[in-house]
Amino acid sequence: MAFELPPLPYDYAALEPTIDEATMKLHHDKHHQTYVTNLNGAVEKYPDLGKKTPEELLADLASIPEDVRAVVRNNGGGHVNHTMFWQIMKPKGGGDPIGDIGTQIDTDFGSFADFKKKFNETTAKQFGSGWGFLVFKGGKLEIVTKPNQDSPISDGLFPILGNDVWEHAYYLKYNNRRPDYLAAWWDVVNWDEVNKRFAQAKK
Ligand code: MN
Repeated sequence: MAFELPPLPYDYAALEPTIDEATMKLHHDKHHQTYVTNLNGAVEKYPDLGKKTPEELLADLASIPEDVRAVVRNNGGGHVNHTMFWQIMKPKGGGDPIGDIGTQIDTDFGSFADFKKKFNETTAKQFGSGWGFLVFKGGKLEIVTKPNQDSPISDGLFPILGNDVWEHAYYLKYNNRRPDYLAAWWDVVNWDEVNKRFAQAKK
């Protein structure tokens, strides 16, 4: 298989009470696995695509044969988005952002509190399934939302962090209360990993 499901870097219950064990099991083992399986299915017919990284596929969707382009966009996006998502969370995470990303957040948004408010409000409004992302564009941090599994990588932007607002990410615990999930999520953010991604975004 060209692409593989990465193991979760902590136990399914490790993000309790912010994200419940049942949600993590379904989200990682079923939803993310399905994106990987479907991406592998799409590239079976075009073995050269399987030699690229999923990020390379998303960065140049126009070069993907038309009959599999939408499948690669949706499932390659799903694979890359979720791989990031597991890594930018950790048990006993959260707190104020540290390092360069903390400084940049203060510069571009005024304070962490202002940034969180703007990120949560913007992402809460994403209609239907999608993601809220933090990207670095023209020397400034910017909050963007994307529908479905679309990735900022397809716009030439590297996602520094992102939160999944598909209902599968929160419905078991938070039901229809997406804003409550968004507000709670910051308690599990892994700022060390976010700093690594910020360094990559600046390159
Ligand atoms: Mn998801």
